[in-house]
Amino acid sequence: MRESLSRRDALKEFVLLIAAAAALRAASGSERATPMLVPLSPSDPNAVFLAYHEDAKTVDPNDFPTYQLGQSCSTCVHADGDDGQSWLYCNLFRGKLVAANGWCKAWATKP
Ligand code: SF4
Repeated sequence: MRESLSRRDALKEFVLLIAAAAALRAASGSERATPMLVPLSPSDPNAVFLAYHEDAKTVDPNDFPTYQLGQSCSTCVHADGDDGQSWLYCNLFRGKLVAANGWCKAWATKP
């Protein structure tokens, strides 16, 4: 009888363990749980890089010539959320929420 596992046996056991863990997670419903999201801080390095403003009204068009009145996270293609929500998901700032009235240099119109 062999005492140690072959590499193939170890890999099979690893795959089974991963499948079992995924099944347990799915059964517990934790895969559907919404992760805790926090508002994006304007001082976050990525926010600074994209000149994120929590309030688009504070954007100085002299500093950001691409900004136009009416642009905000709520009208941006990168945002996701329901109408009327104060905070939205932004696919550029994963794990954070952006202000519906916010704005950054990556703003793009919804199709
Ligand atoms: Fe707001 Fe769009 Fe910039 Fe995201 S990419 S922070 S939704 S303006």
